[in-house]
Amino acid sequence: MIEAAELRDRLAALGDGPEGVDRFAWTPELAAAEAWFGEQAAAAGMRVERDPAGSLWALPDGDGPWWATGSHLDSVRRGGRFDGPLGVAAGFAAAERLPGVAVIAFADEEGARFNTPTFGSRALVGRLDVPDVLARTDDDGVSLAAAMRAAGADPERLGEAPRWLERLRGFLELHIDQTRDLARAAAPAGAVRSLASRMRLAVELEGRADHAGTTRRDERRDALAAAARLVVAADELAEGDPDFLVTAARILVAPNAFTTVPAFVRLWIDGRTPDPERLEAWRAALGDRAAALEEATRVRIHLATASHTAGVAFDASVLAALGDLPGLVCFAGHDAGIVAERLPAGMVLVRNPTGVSHAPEEEVDLEDAAAGANALLAGLERLA
Ligand SMILES: [Zn+2]
Repeated sequence: MIEAAELRDRLAALGDGPEGVDRFAWTPELAAAEAWFGEQAAAAGMRVERDPAGSLWALPDGDGPWWATGSHLDSVRRGGRFDGPLGVAAGFAAAERLPGVAVIAFADEEGARFNTPTFGSRALVGRLDVPDVLARTDDDGVSLAAAMRAAGADPERLGEAPRWLERLRGFLELHIDQTRDLARAAAPAGAVRSLASRMRLAVELEGRADHAGTTRRDERRDALAAAARLVVAADELAEGDPDFLVTAARILVAPNAFTTVPAFVRLWIDGRTPDPERLEAWRAALGDRAAALEEATRVRIHLATASHTAGVAFDASVLAALGDLPGLVCFAGHDAGIVAERLPAGMVLVRNPTGVSHAPEEEVDLEDAAAGANALLAGLERLA
């Protein structure tokens, strides 16, 4: 049995406090957490290797392939202390009791620095556009390639990551619930049955800069006013379906000045639903709305699909191994969902009383975490 006190001790050694965690990929802050990973592995008698994408693997004796568990150690800006590390800590607790199971901390799961979410697992399954991601830059203009080099990783080898997939039989990840689903169900832990389909649209609106006071209505080409109508349309098209979530999460406006009609807007719209056909239909309908808006506003609108991740149904054998945990649909992306494209995979979620995540207020009762960790252990016992 894994007790709450053991998880508390493992997490305490990592040292994250309630004030929030800033641990972006390829930074000294992450390196400190990776040192903790090394200590956890050493205590479990496992060796640590880094794959070409920078993910850390704690390996048992032998050559594998192994079943693995784990999660990630990077965070969003001012993130919570359980998102990621809880799955790694529970992973070591399980692996210590089950010789022959590996523990992985996937690189850059959040993608907070280079907009490269689930970087390590995508590299592993060979679904990373390597030249594209290496050229991306962070807010300080540092390229991903340079950041990898600074962290001691070799960007030239990134394309070799898929070879490591041969070392895996499957992956089972424990993670905090980032909703109140389990709290509502009054269950300490649950099993994810599927991940929702997700789409990120990149939109560019091109109008014309003009004097805010002297430009008549019929002469205006206001990019921001058109963008606002498009954002409302995106949300309206999903209305009436509580499982269809639409977010206009990021927007850039130029010239962004007090007395100038906005000339240019770039924005991103994120849509998620368990129903992949509804997502496609929404995208098509929004394209029609954009065309109509172009007519009405004289603003040129370019709508592109920046990313599209098909929903994943987790392997039935993995769900069976997890026993009678309540089943959930998960709307967030996770490494286990990426691995599931190639290998059996699954996820155990742990109740989050408030549902808050990606914020310092994120909370977990470690008794619930222990219940989740024991479900993880029992599942791995049946699978490995
Ligand atoms: Zn996470």
